[in-house]
Parts: sequence; structure tokens; C-alpha cells
Amino acid sequence: MTTTATKSPTPGTGAGELFQYLREGTPRTRSELAALTGLSRSTIATRVDALLDTGLVDTVGAALSSGGRPPSTFAFVPQSRTVLTADLGAAHAILALTDLAGNILDHLRADMDITSGPETVLAWVVENFLSLLQRNNRDRSTLSGIAIGVPGPVEHTTGRPTKPPIMPGWNDFDIPGTIQREFDVPVLVDNDVNIMALGEQSLAWPQAENLMFVKVATGIGVGIISGGQLQRGAQGSAGDLGHVQVPGGADIPCRCGNTGCLEALAGGPALAGKLAAQGHAVTTAADVGRLAEKNNTAAIQVLRQAGRDIGSVLAMCVNLLNPSVIVLGGRLSTAGEHVIAGVREVVYLRSTPLATQHLAIAGSAAHDMAGVRGASMLVISHVLSAGAVDELVLDHSTTRQSPARSQEKAS
Ligand SMILES: [Zn+2]
Repeated sequence: MTTTATKSPTPGTGAGELFQYLREGTPRTRSELAALTGLSRSTIATRVDALLDTGLVDTVGAALSSGGRPPSTFAFVPQSRTVLTADLGAAHAILALTDLAGNILDHLRADMDITSGPETVLAWVVENFLSLLQRNNRDRSTLSGIAIGVPGPVEHTTGRPTKPPIMPGWNDFDIPGTIQREFDVPVLVDNDVNIMALGEQSLAWPQAENLMFVKVATGIGVGIISGGQLQRGAQGSAGDLGHVQVPGGADIPCRCGNTGCLEALAGGPALAGKLAAQGHAVTTAADVGRLAEKNNTAAIQVLRQAGRDIGSVLAMCVNLLNPSVIVLGGRLSTAGEHVIAGVREVVYLRSTPLATQHLAIAGSAAHDMAGVRGASMLVISHVLSAGAVDELVLDHSTTRQSPARSQEKAS
């Protein structure tokens, strides 16, 4: 099959491809776009007009000219449309409204019990999505898409959770279909640690194509970006490091039925158990974090050892995947540098010198907003793809023809 670059079967088709040259934010003139793409001036003019009609692109003043009327300059307008995202944890949720650059326009945090089931939780999410739009004076027609992160494995193509251990009633539940009863936009669902990896990458490591985000909280999970792509695996369970056996983990029992799992040694409840045995009043990961923040020596010691145990599993991952960045997030990583120090100690000792030569091991910069930011990135890469922008262009060309626009073709 052959495709022609300059001739489109439908007016506007090809605009999505042209949009990719504006997407990174640099304003460009029609001449610059023609030079970049090799397309004719008239094709560029038609496609720029189609993009202007969608509102995704606008004129941003005139470029410098050596004489005569300066040519118009065009730029992507990320504020033109919105994205709604939700990062659902076991007991808390963060919801956000963003623009198409992932900037968070507004957000809310609330206690939410994931075990109350999908119908109850998603009705609550929809209600709060509507209130986020309303209190920011954004009509739902501005909405480009929605993404939701959940604390369990998800089949990415359908957005359905796959046997999530801490989400009773959610197995195979149609999350996108339920949300789409209220919002007629694409709805994407992913594992919470995967979206945190995307959020952290976009905020702090935009050049890193090989990044691992490790969440250390009640459980331990990893979001893997390799070759610039999120790695979800065949069933969406890639990165579930909590149940990898730790060298020397011996016979410590884990809730999964095995022994010596990383989570049984270094997860929040395990650390709380160790401290409780020493007489400290702690039961959760948050309690352990608070105790360490008070410079309690026992808490610092268990966090440092947890870092070493996590590091022993990560050292294998480093040899396998050769990331350039490992980011540590989650409640236990943010209580001082203790977990990170333990991870560094073991990873640099046990991974191959070549794999660690340029390896950065750092704390999270996005903190607890990594999830909602990353969910926004998931929507953005979906709705700003060439194909999706073409669809938007076609929607606009059929719903409102603009005779005024066709008169101001190429200058
Ligand atoms: Zn286990």
C-alpha cells in the first residue's frame, strides 16, 4: 500500500501528523512547518486551519520578518482542553483536573475505602470529577479524557482489574464502561505504580527512557519504563516485586502463602511488627514513617535494613533492565533518606559496574502527586496521537464548518 503525503482523502486528515511538530510547545510559522515536513505550503495551510478549528492550536503573534507583513506563528494551547484523573489507593484517593501539558489545575484528597466495591467508589469518583469541573468553571465539553490508577494489576487493553488482592469485588470489573455512563470520553485504567512512574518521569526525568519507580509503603511495587515505554507485562502484573524472595529471607511467612517475600521483610506491616516487638506503638507504614521522622533510632534502623532488602532485589532488576534512574516513592521512602541509603548501599555493591556507572538512585520529586500527574500523561499521549487529533479534526469539520476560516488561507 502506498500513501501520499500531500494529498488527503478527507480535508483535515494529516492534521494530526502535523500537530506532532507543534506538540512540544515551540511556536512555528507555516514556512517552518513546510520546511520541517516537506509538505507544500497549501497543504500546510489547510492542515493548520483544521487545527485552529479544534482550538488545540492558536496564533501566538507574529514572527520576526525581514520586511513586509510578518507571517503568523502557531502554537499548541495545552489549556484549551482538560483531563480528569484519579489515583485510588487502598484507603485514600487523590483526584485532579489537569490541562493537556499535565499541569495540575486543581486537586482534592479524601479518605476512600477501596474495599467498599467498584460501584460505590466509582460513583464517588464521578461525583467529585463533576465538582472539580464545576468549581473551575470548565464545561464537560472541554474534557479530552480520563485516567484512573488502582492498587492492583490491570489488563491494559480493557481497563479491567485482574485478580487484585486488596480490591475485593473489582476483579474483571468494567471501570471504563462505568465512568463512560457519565463522561463520553476515552477512559484509561492502569496500576497505581505504573502511573506514578509516568508522573515522576515527566516531572523530574523527562530525558530518562529507562526508569524504575519503586513504591515502598504497605506493599512494594515497581513501575518500569524501558526504552521509553511503560512495561506492563502479559497480564498487567509486571513489577510486582513484593513477592520476590529475598536472598536470606529464610522462612519468614508472607500473606501470599510463600515465605521470605520482600513484602514480608520490608513492607509497612512487617516493619511496624518489628518495632511493635520492641515496645513502640506502631501498626501501619505511616506510623513507622512518623516515628522515623522523630529520629527514633529503632525506626531508622528498620528503614535502613528495609532499604538493603529492597536493594538486594533491585540489584537483580538493575542487571536485567539497566535503568538510568531508580526513583523511590511511597510513605516509607519519604521518611528521611534511610530507605534510599540502604538501597544505594546494596545496589552499587551488587550490580555490575557497567549497569551502575551512570545509575541515579533518588527520592520522588512529585511526591504523592506522581499518580495523578502520570495518569494525566497517559491520557495526553492517547488523545494527542496523530490518529486521535485527526478524529478531533473530523468531528469539528462535520459539526461546524467555518467559512470565515477558509478565506484566510496561506499568506
Ligand atoms: Zn509473598
